[in-house]
Amino acid sequence: MQGELILKPGKERSLLRRHPWVYDTAVARVKGKPERGATVAVRSAEGRFLAWAAFAPDATLRARCWSFVESERIDAAWLAARVAEAVARRAALATDTDAVRLVFGEADRLPGFVADRYAEQLVVQLQSCGAEAWRDVLVDALAQATGRGNVFERSDSATRNREGLPPATGVLRGAEPAERIRISEHGLALLVDVRRGHKTGYYVDQRDNRHLVRQLAGQAGARLQRPVRALNCFCYTGGFSLAAAAGGAAEVLSIDSSAEALALAADNAALNAQAVHGWQQADVFEALRALREAGRQFELVVLDPPKFASTHHHVVRAARAYKDITLNALRLLAPGGELLTFSCSGAISVELFQKIVAGAVIDAGVECQMLQRLAAGSDHPLLMTHPEGEYLKGLHLRRV
Ligand code: SAH
Repeated sequence: MQGELILKPGKERSLLRRHPWVYDTAVARVKGKPERGATVAVRSAEGRFLAWAAFAPDATLRARCWSFVESERIDAAWLAARVAEAVARRAALATDTDAVRLVFGEADRLPGFVADRYAEQLVVQLQSCGAEAWRDVLVDALAQATGRGNVFERSDSATRNREGLPPATGVLRGAEPAERIRISEHGLALLVDVRRGHKTGYYVDQRDNRHLVRQLAGQAGARLQRPVRALNCFCYTGGFSLAAAAGGAAEVLSIDSSAEALALAADNAALNAQAVHGWQQADVFEALRALREAGRQFELVVLDPPKFASTHHHVVRAARAYKDITLNALRLLAPGGELLTFSCSGAISVELFQKIVAGAVIDAGVECQMLQRLAAGSDHPLLMTHPEGEYLKGLHLRRV
């Protein structure tokens, strides 16, 4: 322990509810001279112990809590135990895949530390000053807990920048990763570029929803008694597209603005010997309008855009964008067709997203039932004391 954060009066309330973030505005003063990432004691204005936390001198999130138990000591053994627990919890998940999130930051009580497994390759993100300070301990613990020696770093996220840390990517342990790593997801083969792909290479969080699309494609054909045409907007490397084809869609049109993502998507389709795909490089906002003008209709539509609202400041503009694409997707939905529409913006709540989608339904002039709410898979759990962790949300609608 190198110092103490003394909070302003009343600012202890969120910590007493075990919320793991201390904002700069809550801090009255810093005692001692803690270094970046050092473990500090967080205390109320009255001096009551609240938490052990990692200090981030330049960040709005001035400290992220490791533990709320005063008798615990935050050392290598403590961190290694948290990593081992997180990895052990994933082992119990029946996911039928070798691409799994093993450690999910705050949700696994390791704020800022993310680790994914792609077959034999591990990929980590050290997004906070605390994770950075303990990087060797965390990485060694991960290698030990998984029995895997190849670790690549992708600490190039905006979160890290906000903590005042420079981007860092490269090999941390073991060998250079292959240009494209082959993973398997519900029996489908996919290639992942862990060096240049989004996040750590792939959107592991959408695994269950891709599997749902596969089932829906099959059911829609039987229910509607006609071949299923699927549209996958913001397709990236084709995860949802492959799932729709595997489910029996007769035609899958996929749209993305990135030529690189589309090239990998087409390779993924070829790898699975799927011949029903059309790949279109375009802006989805424009493409949806063009498809309507062309009189196109689809039985199954997926909208999985990038994060439109990176902070609370962008919520209004983001809401407009979500509404625009949802509205224009609904206009392409054949009667009886189904739409899965997602938002991965943490700043857009589940309730707000549902309101936005309802607004789109009203304006589209179609009647829709919501069949279910969707979220990230269970390897991305939500810590109940940290609602901010709920970033991915989706609605499954059927046009009636
Ligand atoms: N559904 C994917 C992940 C989507 S990521 C999966 O399951 O793997 C979001 C994608 O949207 C990225 O590939 C990005 O290139 C693309 N994108 C961002 N803005 C876009 C736009 N305006 N039009 C089309 N694609 C866009």
